[in-house]
Amino acid sequence: MTRIAAFGIHHETNSFSSRKTTLESFRRSGLQREGVQRGTRIEEMHRGAKTVFTGFFDAADRLGFDLVPILFAATDPGGTISAEAFDQLTGEALAVLRDRGPWDGVLLNQMGAAVSESYPDMDGEIARRTREIVGPGTPVVMTLDLHANVSQRMARETDALVIYHTNPHLDAVPRANEACDLLVRMISGEIKPAHALEMPPMVIGIMHQNTNVQPMKGIIDDLLDVQQRPGVLHASVGQGYPWSDVDEMGFACYVLHEKSEKEARRLARWITGRAWDRRAEFAEEVGMTPADAVRHGLAADAKPVVLLDAGDNIGAGSSGDSTVILEEAMAQGARSYLQTLRDPEAVAVCDAVGIGETVSMLVGGKTDGLHGRPLPITGTVRELSEGAFEDNRALHAGWTFYDQGRCAVVECDSGPTLLLVSSSIGNVSLEQYYSVGLRPEEFKIVVAKGVMSPRPAYEPIAAEMILVNSPGATSADLSTFHYAHRRTPLYPFEAEATYE
Ligand SMILES: [Zn+2]
Repeated sequence: MTRIAAFGIHHETNSFSSRKTTLESFRRSGLQREGVQRGTRIEEMHRGAKTVFTGFFDAADRLGFDLVPILFAATDPGGTISAEAFDQLTGEALAVLRDRGPWDGVLLNQMGAAVSESYPDMDGEIARRTREIVGPGTPVVMTLDLHANVSQRMARETDALVIYHTNPHLDAVPRANEACDLLVRMISGEIKPAHALEMPPMVIGIMHQNTNVQPMKGIIDDLLDVQQRPGVLHASVGQGYPWSDVDEMGFACYVLHEKSEKEARRLARWITGRAWDRRAEFAEEVGMTPADAVRHGLAADAKPVVLLDAGDNIGAGSSGDSTVILEEAMAQGARSYLQTLRDPEAVAVCDAVGIGETVSMLVGGKTDGLHGRPLPITGTVRELSEGAFEDNRALHAGWTFYDQGRCAVVECDSGPTLLLVSSSIGNVSLEQYYSVGLRPEEFKIVVAKGVMSPRPAYEPIAAEMILVNSPGATSADLSTFHYAHRRTPLYPFEAEATYE
């Protein structure tokens, strides 16, 4: 039986985050209850989810190959990965790959925007080391998140890249199946593809990454069109993740062709050329100021108005403790208002007094100077919980077993309700609130920290979704960051950048 090894070390690294990602961060993940999973545990944790690994297992059943899951480590987006975490996790996975071979093929389940202290292109380095072990004759296929900063190394060291096509990411399972189809066809010798990766000098602004809305929808339509052309096996784009300060940061397009690199290049350039022509649209400023957004929410007739906190986008590596919108809401006297704040200290204060008791303390804004200041509140502790919850609905990236850590619900005397959490988990599931007895539907204003990832959960209940141009480690205003490693010129940083 065909034997295929699979592993992945998944991380979206925000170079501007003050919180380093350590081995401990990988062990303690909010996205998946167990941050580091090995062997059969991977199957138990993904069979019932909608992740890339779920798709790998589906395909193993469907295509009849022996899938050997080695290791899967994924944790919440955050700062640069420590050398120790990289060495230990990668070392462990590669040792198993080396010792238990030979393999017919390898599946790499990577995110594509991981940066470690030693390897700015960590995903490319993992691909390179994998290739070194299995040799040129064993096909390697790597799946990536649509936010990947795709590098030439990733393309060169693998036989195919398969990237999500949707943002919010709802297609992990079909893309994983596609990756397996390609791999199995390569193993049987049916195909021996050629590829091209085109990297135009442009960045796609975070506010314009919704694949259901123009101009991004146009790019996806183009790549679906290219996939129908004769000889094309797969086409993907990497939207890019602008907060990784690395050379490959930016937009890229990958085309896999049956035999012709030249044809793959021509089609990739057709897609990137059309995106380039619309570059100004991808850089357009959208969204409201925090003050306008709160005012808008208070004046609205229908509820809830969901305010998307772009500057404290947890799913993009922010701290999760921004008080910028909360401070504005308090200043404007908002009473029916709900949001999360990552503040383990404040949770401990609530724990010490217990449910039904009064607390007076400073909350949020404690990570760094980018996310507002700690705010004084007085309120009543309404609930205390361990913080684990499940949600099997179609959610961003298909995660299912979440863990926000020890948490507390506090109703402030001035009105707002806060869910204080210990782990920086994105607002991607309503179960986050339901599990502690809160119903976001009943609030006038609900803050969701993110731009795209909260949409699958919140769009069905929201009267309106408002993008808020808030400050923070994930500010949509990229001119507020000091890059040292990105390539130049790059539009819109350098407006005069050219691309032929
Ligand atoms: Zn993503």
